[in-house]
Amino acid sequence: MAGTPEPRTIGALLDDCEGGHRLTEAEGALLLRARGREVHAIAGAADRARHERAGDAVTYVRNQNINVTNVCINRCGFCGFSRRAEDPDAFRLAIPDVVLKARQAAERRATEICTVSGLSPEFDGDTYCAIIRACREGAPDVHIHASNPMEVAYGAGRSGRTTEEQLGLMREAGLGSLCGTAAEILVDEVRDRICPGKCSSAEWVRIITEAHGLGIPTTATIMYGSGESVDDRARHLAVLRGIQDETGGFTEFVPLSFVYPRTPLYLAGRAPPGATGVEDLLMIAVARLFLDNVDHIQASWVKLGLKMTALSLLAGADDLGGTVFEERISAEAGGTGTDYLAPEEMARLAADLGRPLRQRTTLYGPVDPR
Ligand code: SF4
Repeated sequence: MAGTPEPRTIGALLDDCEGGHRLTEAEGALLLRARGREVHAIAGAADRARHERAGDAVTYVRNQNINVTNVCINRCGFCGFSRRAEDPDAFRLAIPDVVLKARQAAERRATEICTVSGLSPEFDGDTYCAIIRACREGAPDVHIHASNPMEVAYGAGRSGRTTEEQLGLMREAGLGSLCGTAAEILVDEVRDRICPGKCSSAEWVRIITEAHGLGIPTTATIMYGSGESVDDRARHLAVLRGIQDETGGFTEFVPLSFVYPRTPLYLAGRAPPGATGVEDLLMIAVARLFLDNVDHIQASWVKLGLKMTALSLLAGADDLGGTVFEERISAEAGGTGTDYLAPEEMARLAADLGRPLRQRTTLYGPVDPR
């Protein structure tokens, strides 16, 4: 019909994208819906974009998690980690224990300590600062990658501060960067279903933007595969790209595939058993093409398993994430083999792809051999 544009084929869209066209949200959704051989074409284009933007090295960070408590006032439907204070397996580390754990991380030559915990009714804004100071005390030279916008909002609210004030105090305590988790899906209808107790999309965006404004870099994440639509995923990517255009404060994008077996949502029959392999691959590949302003796309071996991680590194990802000493969050949700991946195993995986393995800092700088 005259005047009606032909629907674009995925091949034509990928050609345009490689020529510098910026994908629209609707085009992102179109790519996320691809099936069959089109998946190969998208993965191939994403792999070429990865080569151009991030080079060929497969990077990783030597890091250790410190989960200070699993006691949480929330019950997010996708979370198998949180406990009530009276549960027999509830735990809370005292501050001296955090110092000891941080010291252990330094002894393991970790360059990053990552702390994320439940929203304990005993915590306030000062607790988050005390945890960061304890990490500093135990590991003065190690980068502290701590908390997320939900924890910032919680701490600020408990101490009667603005989130910007809370972030400023955490930075003074030694925070190096903020985790971009708690993003889940940045569409409020989805959040109302999977995590009604969490901060809203707008609040997450505001706190991340405040962090970037204060010079605190963050990661960007998505937690996908718990029943949201492809359009929701594309919306989420568009929100992240908009923030990055404004601030440039995202170090990397980390897609987190829903680990389902022991989560309330799945056990209640209100979520599918996670994303499929094709969805995992497309999440990585489309993110690489869509987020033209984010240099690094991480394949999280904790969520994907090693074989899917290898394929993701052929479909746009350049980073493996961390060695992750002491992973608990995915393990409690029913994930297996989530605690510690040795650099030797990473080297085998990278060699299999014909690419070098390189250790990085949290902010993607080189690591001094020690
Ligand atoms: S995801 Fe975080 S806030 Fe939600 S229940 Fe789990 S620990 Fe609590």
